[in-house]
Amino acid sequence: MPEILSGKEVQQAILHQLQPRIASFRESTGRPPGLAVILVGHNPASQIYVRNKVKACQELGIYSEQYNPPETTTTEDVVQLVESLNRRPDIDGILVQMPLPAQVDAQRVILTIDPAKDVDGFHPYNLGQLVSGRPGLRPCTPAGIMRLLEHYRIPVAGKKAVVIGRSDIVGKPMALMLLHAHATVTICHSRTADLAAEARQADLLVVAAGKPALVTAEFIKPGAVVVDVGINRVTDRARVEELFGDDPDKLTSFEKTGSVLVGDVHPRDVRQRAGAYTPVPGGVGPLTIAMLMANTVEAAERRLCKCSASGSLAGWQQGSPT
Ligand code: NAD
Repeated sequence: MPEILSGKEVQQAILHQLQPRIASFRESTGRPPGLAVILVGHNPASQIYVRNKVKACQELGIYSEQYNPPETTTTEDVVQLVESLNRRPDIDGILVQMPLPAQVDAQRVILTIDPAKDVDGFHPYNLGQLVSGRPGLRPCTPAGIMRLLEHYRIPVAGKKAVVIGRSDIVGKPMALMLLHAHATVTICHSRTADLAAEARQADLLVVAAGKPALVTAEFIKPGAVVVDVGINRVTDRARVEELFGDDPDKLTSFEKTGSVLVGDVHPRDVRQRAGAYTPVPGGVGPLTIAMLMANTVEAAERRLCKCSASGSLAGWQQGSPT
């Protein structure tokens, strides 16, 4: 049986390590680290994500504020809100939940966030720091996956890694982080000629395509480590039976709620072929939230240093050798 890589277990380890850092930040400043979350409109999936993020802050003792501009809000309104949060000394992290409504210019909003408060790691300053292996706030999902690989002592250096997906949020930063960890990295995407053949080369396969069960047995080299980032809701009964035919709990859950979650990797095939894999749910999802908390604490500590010392960003996060 393959090893199950539990994101929940790693989440607990990350949060546990943050507790003393939060306590000592409080002691030095008389306040907890602070995170502001902006959620425009009422996208149900975004509402759940934001609720989980705010709940994680509460459980950990991080101060959080939530802003809910209406669906019809303008770029200017969101920009002004971000600028006001940039100026707030008690707010260390600013998160703008994506996606934004079409009329709001997401790039302009991201550019407005002070890079020192950019806890999602999406600002071009932080992305540039990542590309060049310099210190900065890193995108949460791929940073969490790197922590998962470390936690389970999965070797990366010298291995062949394949990343399916090239989004700015997951695929590209994931590939860069694996590259900095000395993997030989291939990035695949919607126009890759023979996806299965590329994927089958991988000792480590990371899938972030947003396509339910895209990766089937013929994509997976026997014994490979498979990290499934995808979160997809399946509502078709026949499809649920095909995906989870051997799992009575999933079928019961489908009967009750009318849907089940599936990753980008076929859940039965991965069990037959992989050496280790992340389940969905309970794999990558919990890591993303844990790393958001870690980035908020990191940003708070760095801002404290900046106020009290030289202001240098050196040592923020490990850079990488060439
Ligand atoms: P995205 O839509 O921005 O990017 C998807 C990428 O996959 C694109 O680069 C595209 O080229 C590639 N792709 C799409 N179809 C493909 C195909 N048939 N073959 C090969 N490549 C294909 O998505 P994203 O924001 O990177 O998210 C990907 C998935 O991960 C989604 O299911 C999303 O919900 C999930 N996600 C989960 C977490 C988490 O915390 N678990 C965080 C972020 C995203």
